[in-house]
Amino acid sequence: MDKAVFKKSLNHFLFPQFCISCRKELSIPGIPFCATCENKIKKEYIPEEHGDFFSGLRDSESGHEIFYHNLISFYLYRKTARDLFKEAKFHNHSGCRNYLLQKTRHRWANLCPGSVLITLESSHPFLKKYARSISRIFDCESESPFYKKNRRIKAKTRNAASRYGIVQDNLFLKKNFRIPPDRNIILLDDVTTTGATLNYAARLLTEKGASPEKITAITLFIRENRIQRIPRQ
Ligand SMILES: [Zn+2]
Repeated sequence: MDKAVFKKSLNHFLFPQFCISCRKELSIPGIPFCATCENKIKKEYIPEEHGDFFSGLRDSESGHEIFYHNLISFYLYRKTARDLFKEAKFHNHSGCRNYLLQKTRHRWANLCPGSVLITLESSHPFLKKYARSISRIFDCESESPFYKKNRRIKAKTRNAASRYGIVQDNLFLKKNFRIPPDRNIILLDDVTTTGATLNYAARLLTEKGASPEKITAITLFIRENRIQRIPRQ
């Protein structure tokens, strides 16, 4: 047996690794999913943007005007993708973050040139690290100008109107933040539930002079109930 192969299999014997979703032992260590779950997450991937041209429209659920131009999401927040998200975010699993980066990076190639990447505030380092990698790969300026008054306030309700109210009282833009002129803005969040946070964040940017036409909202994961609510033209 080849020395490297032997070392690998010995390592695997001593430190077996498990699929992050079904918890079965992995035949190839170092990847997050077994073959079955890898097939499952492929079905949860959203290959094309599912909506377009929201500016000027109203969110059918919350009644608020939508302040971003379009919304792009990469994964449905279903079982396997949800496991990936939770490992990457709450357990700061670098393998899962790298997997996500690898599976989504080609989507950024057209978005990044001439854009500034603005990341939503999060108490977990996951989104910041992901955004930093994207901005480094595509040489795209990145900012994180939002802050929360009270980090412990969590929007437990799924009701869009009340979530918007909670976000409105809690999310702020740093006073010294200036909108970069003549740039497209990519507003990035990890997961969208009702769209309230993204929309309110976009609204804060427009109050500082950004044009909604230039704001693209990107979420890595989207809950399916949200997709049905999105108004279409
Ligand atoms: Zn599995």
